[in-house]
Amino acid sequence: MILVTGGAGYIGSHTVKELLRIGYEVVVLDNLSQGHREAVLTPHFEQVDLQDQKAIRSIFKKYSIDAVIHFAAFSIVGESNLLPHKYFNNNTKNTLQLLDTMIEFGVLKFVFSSTCSIYGNPEYVPLDEKHPIRPINAYAESKRMVESILEYYNNAYALKSVRLRYFNACGADLDGQIGESHDPETHLIPLALKVAKGEKPHLNIFGTDYPTPDGTCIRDYIHVTDLADAHIKALEYLKSASGESITLNLGTGSGYSVKEVIETCREVTGHPIPTIEITRREGDPSVLVAQSQLVKDKLNWIPKNSNLKTIIHSAWQWEVNRRF
Ligand code: UDP
Repeated sequence: MILVTGGAGYIGSHTVKELLRIGYEVVVLDNLSQGHREAVLTPHFEQVDLQDQKAIRSIFKKYSIDAVIHFAAFSIVGESNLLPHKYFNNNTKNTLQLLDTMIEFGVLKFVFSSTCSIYGNPEYVPLDEKHPIRPINAYAESKRMVESILEYYNNAYALKSVRLRYFNACGADLDGQIGESHDPETHLIPLALKVAKGEKPHLNIFGTDYPTPDGTCIRDYIHVTDLADAHIKALEYLKSASGESITLNLGTGSGYSVKEVIETCREVTGHPIPTIEITRREGDPSVLVAQSQLVKDKLNWIPKNSNLKTIIHSAWQWEVNRRF
């Protein structure tokens, strides 16, 4: 049985779907503060808050858990600097408690959702895993602290982990069963599609004076099903005899500008998507693109759906036929 925390959330629910498809048994733990009950595709669901260690321990007693994939976290960068308490308590302290419970029950395989934002403002791109770690917000710091704890827990308690540093997750399940649903929504692609759908009058472009070819930020967009697939491969890596703890970038290696993304949204949807160019959003580096050779080599992973048109097409299908 695999325990997936945050399995009612965006990336978590897509990973659960893939785990079930290939025959794993899955129990989802989620407090539904941001996730959706409809997105939980396994019959084993525990509505529990991560801070409730007693409840977490009873889940470890109830199920025979082989490994944990840990998604549950807060992830809004701007909010994290205003409410660091919320981020350090949930993302760091509650994760530490979860790790301690795992050790208590002898569960020693852990797949962790980390983030490319722990690199801070890039000194060079594409970013490889050796790039200096310099978080510039409480969200990234909360994740860096867990990466660091995992190093010590690996050495002291043989807790083996794969730390996946995500780039920009996007897109939706190709069957249309689940998709992205955040409240508030802050991400570029779903916001652009809400404008295309007529739900919002225009899209703000945050900054057109970046040192990039068209002046807008460049990001590495990775389809959520490719992310999900990497988690399964990380789990299988940990099960293999050579599964030593490892940290991997999870991006495609290709970057697109904000304007390129919006133009592709226009092409895919056939709608105009009016934009307003405003000032930069605080804390946005100009370019974030992964050097992704290591994840390809170590996990034998290749992105299959991360072509920008496929991403936007799947997100559009979801946007017009949303189930939650
Ligand atoms: N962005 C934008 N307008 C929006 C939302 C995002 O111009 O309404 C830009 C943002 O500044 C960044 C890129 O789109 O350069 C991707 O932002 P998103 O919030 O989707 O992901 P992030 O890179 O912050 O994880």
